[in-house]
Amino acid sequence: MKALALFSGGLDSLLAIKLIQETGAEVEAVYFLQPFLAPAEEEKLIAHLQKLIAQLGVKLHIVRLDEEYLRILENPKHGYGKAANPCLDCHIFFLRKAGEMMDKLGAAFLVTGEVVGQRPKSQNRGAFPKIDEETGLAGLIVRPLSARLLPPTVPEEKGWISLDHCPSIQGRQRKVQLELAVKYGLEYEAPAGGCLLTNVEYGRKVKDLIKADGSLTIDSLRLLRIGRHFRLNPRFKGIVGRNHRENQILFRYFCKQRSTEGLYLLKALGAPGPLALGLGGPATDDLKNLARLTSRYSDHPWDTSVSVKILVSGEKHHLTTVSVAKKQGTLDLEQFRII
Ligand code: SF4
Repeated sequence: MKALALFSGGLDSLLAIKLIQETGAEVEAVYFLQPFLAPAEEEKLIAHLQKLIAQLGVKLHIVRLDEEYLRILENPKHGYGKAANPCLDCHIFFLRKAGEMMDKLGAAFLVTGEVVGQRPKSQNRGAFPKIDEETGLAGLIVRPLSARLLPPTVPEEKGWISLDHCPSIQGRQRKVQLELAVKYGLEYEAPAGGCLLTNVEYGRKVKDLIKADGSLTIDSLRLLRIGRHFRLNPRFKGIVGRNHRENQILFRYFCKQRSTEGLYLLKALGAPGPLALGLGGPATDDLKNLARLTSRYSDHPWDTSVSVKILVSGEKHHLTTVSVAKKQGTLDLEQFRII
């Protein structure tokens, strides 16, 4: 008998796998990789997950989320949490995707590390039947950490596994999980940073993008992690790099798409300073305001006139220069900032 476990990188899913292994079932695991990590971060995260899962001798499948996931993120049926985290929809999506993998892997049921009452929306007793129904996998999702608080699943009823040895954990307390981690000798350092979608600041930028563009792309989500973001009009925004690495990323982004209309790369001339990227259709003063923002973060002294170079993308990409005054208080920059 084989099971496929949803692995989050946290202790609960490690324990859930261990408890199912104790039933004699073979377990493989799947991790759904969010699409907006930089390649180096992905590599580090995957290495960390492999190290954790190796403790249990389990094969780990990494599934990179794609455009289909972005459609969920744009318009979640069950809404967002405190940021742009559509946890309930996201969870249902992961289970559906894992359900689709079962046949190919020869798995008879799914396993999750969910705990009754741990999260208000997605992990309360009432949410589980709704989740099971929406995934079309009712009876096939086993939650060993709270197994004895929940109705028996198909694998138990059919006698494939017995969960008599499983705990009845509920709520946010971690005491039982920590005791089990000691009992099984498991190391469980969760991946650094957690889910970016639960970050309130990042969430505001995601929602701004959905409102302005109506849709998300993997590239646009990646860009949200770079620089200071300014919404200059509903169809035009600017990103100002905060350091050399971010300036390089903005530069590469511009170069890669320089034949597409609607991109602007700005740099104040004559002193060190950031690169700024403009995206969309600027109205009358927007490019000038972005140039002011670019000069504001440059090393030019206050109360001077600064020339800002603007590279304009498109079929006929060209270079232009504007002159702006770097004056304290003349432009209320904060009104544009997405924070
Ligand atoms: S925390 Fe992030 S990955 Fe986890 S369910 Fe919520 S949105 Fe999805």
